[in-house]
Amino acid sequence: MKAIVFREGSQWAVENVETPVPGPGEVRLRLLRTGVCGTDEHLLHGGFIAKFPLIPGHEMLGEVDALGDGVETPAIGTTVVVDNTIHCGECRACLSGRALFCENFSSLGCNAPGGFAEYVVVRAAKTFPTHGLHPDIAVLAEPTACAMHGVDILDLAPASDVLVYGAGPTGLILSQLLKMAGAARVTVVAPTASKLELARRFGADHTIVIDRDDPDAVVSELRELAPHGFDAVIEATGSVRVLEQAVGLTATGGTVMVYGLAAEDAFARVSPYEIFSRELTIKGSFAQAFTMERAMVALRSGRIQTDGIITDVVGFEDFDRALANLKDSSQIKTIMDPSHVATTPN
Ligand SMILES: [Zn+2]
Ligand SMILES: [Zn+2]
Repeated sequence: MKAIVFREGSQWAVENVETPVPGPGEVRLRLLRTGVCGTDEHLLHGGFIAKFPLIPGHEMLGEVDALGDGVETPAIGTTVVVDNTIHCGECRACLSGRALFCENFSSLGCNAPGGFAEYVVVRAAKTFPTHGLHPDIAVLAEPTACAMHGVDILDLAPASDVLVYGAGPTGLILSQLLKMAGAARVTVVAPTASKLELARRFGADHTIVIDRDDPDAVVSELRELAPHGFDAVIEATGSVRVLEQAVGLTATGGTVMVYGLAAEDAFARVSPYEIFSRELTIKGSFAQAFTMERAMVALRSGRIQTDGIITDVVGFEDFDRALANLKDSSQIKTIMDPSHVATTPN
């Protein structure tokens, strides 16, 4: 089968690799669409939990085309989305109910074969039927599940005033979920006006353009909106300067949540005295965990809007465009669709 393969030294290529065969408890999917995510860029350069050679792609939508031993459902022909995480269930973290931090954590598309391929093998129990949900909506299940986990972690009080930095796929979905989770007002700050326009269409109450080169210029406007600070401030950009700014804009007793993926060696300057004297809470949200089912409910209900989030669709041969799109501020979510290439396993 064809697959995108990442190798050591930020190299990638379209390669012919062996079509995977499902083992006990597994199913093989013929991939229909796989979302391209900023994490893929980090993985290409060896960041996050990359293990080479790697077939990336963790936002998968596919049709079941082969069953491993003992698998009865999902039946062949079922269209499903995938929880790409695999926890061992036996390590200290798993046994303490913190499976997300499993010591043997494997994540399809990050340190195990993922969905930028014609086929992928996944755990049958970690598939979720789309029940006819439009593929362009269903393919957003994984990023929605990640945002849902963030909302779980944030644990908002009803009628909270929330500030979100970032209007990428995550910021756009997260800002809607926050409304479901109790935010009375959501303000979104991002550098691209067209994305903020979408955020407003999706229900954001206020949107403010931030200048990447002069992020502090927005502070006075944000202070005017929330003179005593925001109850919760979510950093969904991965920018250190934004995180540094977020602390000062958080209300006394409020919470800063780090959602964006920064470089592993990045450090932010925050005042311990401020955290201490204003009793601030700093939280992190790292991946989806046990939220796929609810993500599908949210998407199916139509209460999470997605129209306009997908801005480009690529095949194997133009994967370089998918990577370029990650750096193009006019792009939001690129989808890889392998359908124009061979569809028979060999
Ligand atoms: Zn992702
Ligand atoms: Zn474990």
